[in-house]
Amino acid sequence: MGRVAEKRPKALTFIRQKGEISRGDLAAELSLDKKTVSNLVEELFAESLIASAGFRDSIAGRRQELLTLNGSHSNFIGIDLGGTHIIGILADLNGRSLDRVFFEIRPGLAVEIILDQMKTICRKLMESKQASAPVRAIGICAPGFIDSATGTSIVAENIPGWQDVHLRDIFQKEFNRPVHAEDSSRAYALAEKWLGDGRGREDFLLTDLGYGIGMAIIVNGLLLRGAGNKSGEIGHTIVAPDGPLCSCGNHGCLEAVASGRAIARDAAAGIHAGRSGLLKGLTHGRAESVTAQDVAIAASMGDVFSTELLRAAGNLAGLALANAVNIINPSLLILGGGLIGTNRTMEECVARALATHCMKGIFKDLELRVSRLGIDGSALGCGILAAAEVLGPA
Ligand SMILES: [Zn+2]
Repeated sequence: MGRVAEKRPKALTFIRQKGEISRGDLAAELSLDKKTVSNLVEELFAESLIASAGFRDSIAGRRQELLTLNGSHSNFIGIDLGGTHIIGILADLNGRSLDRVFFEIRPGLAVEIILDQMKTICRKLMESKQASAPVRAIGICAPGFIDSATGTSIVAENIPGWQDVHLRDIFQKEFNRPVHAEDSSRAYALAEKWLGDGRGREDFLLTDLGYGIGMAIIVNGLLLRGAGNKSGEIGHTIVAPDGPLCSCGNHGCLEAVASGRAIARDAAAGIHAGRSGLLKGLTHGRAESVTAQDVAIAASMGDVFSTELLRAAGNLAGLALANAVNIINPSLLILGGGLIGTNRTMEECVARALATHCMKGIFKDLELRVSRLGIDGSALGCGILAAAEVLGPA
């Protein structure tokens, strides 16, 4: 590979991160001479990957052309399969959302139906009127273990029967585009790195508190994958050894006591036991249909039982997160997922538990933020993952 080809992904990343830069900035960043940078820039212009963003005067008084990434070069689709929803995003080359499709799904749906719904979302976005360019590639994420090299979703404990689903093959065949697959929390963290509070951060944790609970660990600017590509399973760290059975087969995992799924289970039991008239009303008496979202709404309306459920879940999530923070010593912890943002009870309890259980010296290095990307984080990350098809590995 030539020197220019080698520097190309780095150059594109730098231009995207900075927004607008001159050829001189690029030469300095990539440690390249002017001539080589000039050739590289001409190549990127010829492919319409970059565009001119006007001129500025340099200190020496010479006019410098500013270069920017051409977001409309190509579009990408990101699909996030969650425990209670599927979200599809149409994104441009900058990772910015152009269009969005949201489908709610009932837990326990058959694998074939879920795949059909994912395809329907993909098709809708392919035909979107908001598109600024043809769709070049698709990114998909699912919870649980993913073999990103083969694009296979190995297992998602929260989806009955979901095993060895060859996402890449299925969607590549259906849509005739390159397909990338990744774990949901990792896709989320990628979106935070590009568009959210992870920008410019080398060491951060992203936790996805939703129907399941996951984590992505960024250390020295890189995603920590682990020996078998399965790192970040904070949802299956034990916080209550005598606690309820988890989908993984162990007892008292964080996910078995503090996930959206666990909250819904406890809420249903509470409705049966007559502990919340409000929740009963919200679910029209069908206790089994209660969701963590209902609990958050009831808590916001002052329901004591629902508030207790969220507090207990938040305290245990905070405990597990404090353990992770003590091990990794990140500069930032981003709280994301469906349980965060609807009702502040969970995040307040998490914040308090972190302050209590983290080592003081480590806690002082930590900044806690609620994700600004919200539940779209993973889908946005999938779109960004797909953009690697054009930008190359960053
Ligand atoms: Zn477990």
